[in-house]
Amino acid sequence: MSKTISINAGSSSLKWQLYLMPEEKVLAKGLLERIGLKDSISTVKFDGRSEKQVLDIEDHTQAVKILLDDLKRFNIIESYDEITGVGHRVVAGGEYFKDSALVDEEVIQKVEELSLLAPLHNPANAAGIRAFREILPDITSVVVFDTSFHTTMPEKAYRYPIPTKYYTENKVRKYGAHGTSHEYVAKDAAKVLGRPIEELKLITCHIGNGASITAVDKGVSVDTSMGFTPLGGVMMGTRTGDIDPAIIPYLMQYTDDFNTPEDISRVLNRESGLLGVSEKSSDMRDIHEAMRAGDAKAQLANDIFVDRIQKYIGQYLAVLNGADAIIFTAGIGENSVTIRELVINGISWFGCDVDPEKNVRGAEGVISNPDAKVKVLVIPTDEELVIARDVERFKNQ
Ligand code: ADP
Repeated sequence: MSKTISINAGSSSLKWQLYLMPEEKVLAKGLLERIGLKDSISTVKFDGRSEKQVLDIEDHTQAVKILLDDLKRFNIIESYDEITGVGHRVVAGGEYFKDSALVDEEVIQKVEELSLLAPLHNPANAAGIRAFREILPDITSVVVFDTSFHTTMPEKAYRYPIPTKYYTENKVRKYGAHGTSHEYVAKDAAKVLGRPIEELKLITCHIGNGASITAVDKGVSVDTSMGFTPLGGVMMGTRTGDIDPAIIPYLMQYTDDFNTPEDISRVLNRESGLLGVSEKSSDMRDIHEAMRAGDAKAQLANDIFVDRIQKYIGQYLAVLNGADAIIFTAGIGENSVTIRELVINGISWFGCDVDPEKNVRGAEGVISNPDAKVKVLVIPTDEELVIARDVERFKNQ
């Protein structure tokens, strides 16, 4: 019996979850926010309690110290010896990490090197890894990459039709993201369908604030909607998804908003998507509330959102030459009855449908009619659990 922590470190935050393994029982979870700023917030949830404290957290090392102290303070653990493993989510693994890996100095350096591909995320991930290594040097420490699951994509899917030197010299290719989530829901869907994953063609739709869709053939990713970075693919809360790249030089020339790479990145990553179109919110709940009150911009934001998801599902039906099931997961995919209904009803020609009696709040498992050719499922994702399981896998090697 041992305790394992999964860590998801952002540039100014650190999300964690403590598991009892191999039982896979969540003992506690929490979030440290505003790291490096004044009035940082640490929240710990356990036994139905939620404890919040406001303090100044300087950096990720201090954040890890606070989190470990909190575990003792709230009697969630008695001593640090009980923690035998830690798993760190890392956003970009490039072409180098095809699987999760045991942490050593070389691995950390590689994660730092790959910051070129995820400048906001990888340095924060590496800081989290170093912080744990400093405080708990002897536990099994594993890095789990958002991109690993997609390293099985064929070259025709991951290469862009731009001059080859940008691939060979600058590593510009499709890497995708949300890999742990797509892998988890694909495997779980196979269980729910009662069929071996090796027999299945699946389209997994991770639709949250960030959103991506993956074509999974026989359990492996063969194409995914996010691209070189998580900006590509379907429309998202604040990200554009795919747009015509010619828009960028055009706006550089004719507006004052696109002067630097940072400007371009900010507009496309943080000011676009649902927020940009609705001019109201990046949150689907707000969009739907406004839409029902007759707000035309919110309606349009919803319509574009649904349209882009439908088009990607259509693409992947072509890539896979058919599919056994379409799976919805993440914040919107798991919770929005409306989005699931709009997306699927509009593409019913392909042989999928939703049963209104099954497509309800809190639905899990199959939500299509029994005779649907392409089943539709809701599978709650659990990226933290995938990370904790990976730590177990390395412990047992
Ligand atoms: P992140 O990418 O930040 O992890 P999440 O997976 O948590 O995002 O998804 C957040 C999104 O889920 C938000 O747009 C939120 O509005 C949406 N969401 C959560 N609950 C509901 C709901 N009941 N109906 C519609 N959308 C929901």
